[in-house]
Amino acid sequence: MIPVVALVGRPNVGKSTLFNRLTRTRDALVADFPGLTRDRKYGRAELEEHEFIVIDTGGIDGTEEGVETKMAEQSLAAIEEADVVLFLVDGRAGLTAADEAIAKHLRSREKPTFLVVNKVDGIDADSACAEFWRLGVDAMYQIAATQNRGVTALMERALAPF
Ligand code: GDP
Ligand code: MG
Repeated sequence: MIPVVALVGRPNVGKSTLFNRLTRTRDALVADFPGLTRDRKYGRAELEEHEFIVIDTGGIDGTEEGVETKMAEQSLAAIEEADVVLFLVDGRAGLTAADEAIAKHLRSREKPTFLVVNKVDGIDADSACAEFWRLGVDAMYQIAATQNRGVTALMERALAPF
């Protein structure tokens, strides 16, 4: 069985950048503006001895009225398909209402979930990460997807049970 890893988070946190890192493609569009990846996107990835499927999603904008609708359209479906969820947040932007909405939904599921604080390059990562403990997670992982920093350590943990 090949494990399925879903990348979930609000727009612009770096999901597509991480997808591209993991799949080593430019298939997932990366942009400075939110909402560009509109559908779920699947890629095949390998990390050391692990082979896995990764799903990129367009993201969930918690400031919109239709949070639950948007989740139902793609991110929720990706969560259901996944064996492991990587919940990305932006260490530079800090905690947002959208992050809280996503965390609340994820708590209602029983999927193994890893909180991933991205964009920790060039900032004081530990102080940037402190507020994310409010999301009620057991562990968080600091990465910089554009630098490929922390990505291998994260994936080794996420894929360890498979
Ligand atoms: P998505 O909407 O969650 O898919 O986010 P994207 O992957 O499209 O990235 C949004 C923006 O964040 C782009 O300008 C990326 O270059 C930038 N970004 C992604 N990862 C990092 C990172 O590790 N550090 C920094 N500084 N910027 C990043
Ligand atoms: Mg994207």
